[in-house]
Amino acid sequence: MPLEMTAIPCLSDNYAYLLHDPATGRTAVVDVPDVAPIHDVLDTLGYKLTDIFITHHHEDHIGGVPRLVEDTGATVWGAAADAHRLPPLDHALVEGDRVDFGSEHALVIDVPGHTIGHIAFHFPESGLAFTADSLMVLGCGRLFEGTPDQMWASLCKLMALPDDTLICSGHDYTGGNAAFAQHVDPDNPDLKARLAQIEVDRANKRPMAVVPLGLEKATNPFLRAGAPYLKHKHGRDGSSDSEMFAFLRSQKDTF
Ligand code: ZN
Ligand code: FE
Repeated sequence: MPLEMTAIPCLSDNYAYLLHDPATGRTAVVDVPDVAPIHDVLDTLGYKLTDIFITHHHEDHIGGVPRLVEDTGATVWGAAADAHRLPPLDHALVEGDRVDFGSEHALVIDVPGHTIGHIAFHFPESGLAFTADSLMVLGCGRLFEGTPDQMWASLCKLMALPDDTLICSGHDYTGGNAAFAQHVDPDNPDLKARLAQIEVDRANKRPMAVVPLGLEKATNPFLRAGAPYLKHKHGRDGSSDSEMFAFLRSQKDTF
């Protein structure tokens, strides 16, 4: 039985994700931007929180952790590399660690770039990956701490997951990201089709922070930094993939 996943809108554009294993009742939240919306969903579904998974140290992802731990006694998991600037961890994680979770498990992937200690959680059986501010819908996080090379390497690791993996990201920045994607990759037929779908989703107020990896690989300009036609279009035939990524990221910063 796959895990149940519920996206919980928090603050202005953040998402927390509730994960529930129906077989064992184990229930986790990925990131805690705020406490009240998470309690609301737990109460509605009748679940008891057992675990908190932290992706990175930014306040809009950990702000509610201390309070939620106080309320629920949940076990806290986060990156060993950032233990000094995260709420107290019960388990400090490094790349490749396996977290048993009910009848499934998560694998920890190091995805530095947005911050140095950013990690993603991949649940292979259910085909879910929680990428927060590394890989985002039609975009990627800003490089506050890491280098373009680091972020490109992180995105390449995520691109190696199965195409049907559902990417669950930390924010809904789809509007701005879609405008940038159209600006830099206007001739991409998959992107055109997707932008039309995004208009429909927006009109129906559907949340847009969750998307299959295969669709991202076809349409997210940052994941297409290795595509020869895109380098050519931007006059960068001689660039390496990570140089092209750096170019796209710097364009987005001032878009
Ligand atoms: Zn962040
Ligand atoms: Fe964030």
